[in-house]
Amino acid sequence: MALFPSRKGRLVLIWGLSATSVGLTTAVYVCDRCGTNAAHRRLTKRVRRFTLFFVPLFSVSTTYVDNCTACGRDVEVANAQAKAAVAQRLAGQQPP
Ligand SMILES: [Zn+2]
Repeated sequence: MALFPSRKGRLVLIWGLSATSVGLTTAVYVCDRCGTNAAHRRLTKRVRRFTLFFVPLFSVSTTYVDNCTACGRDVEVANAQAKAAVAQRLAGQQPP
């Protein structure tokens, strides 16, 4: 979204939203949709930020999405479930 200057010399503002996605973890279990036994599902964090003059200033929304790489299904995951999945993944990587 942009406001362009008028002939009366008003302020010009260019603002909008940007989105970024960060892969958090990958798990292997059966998909609800396609039923693939060895489905690899990725947990992704998607953040939308308000931008002013193309500079991201603050986040507007954060969602966690579980994606099945076999069938492409996307399901939104609750914040607590996403954090638990990441914690479980990190606990599995630490030496005993
Ligand atoms: Zn699937």
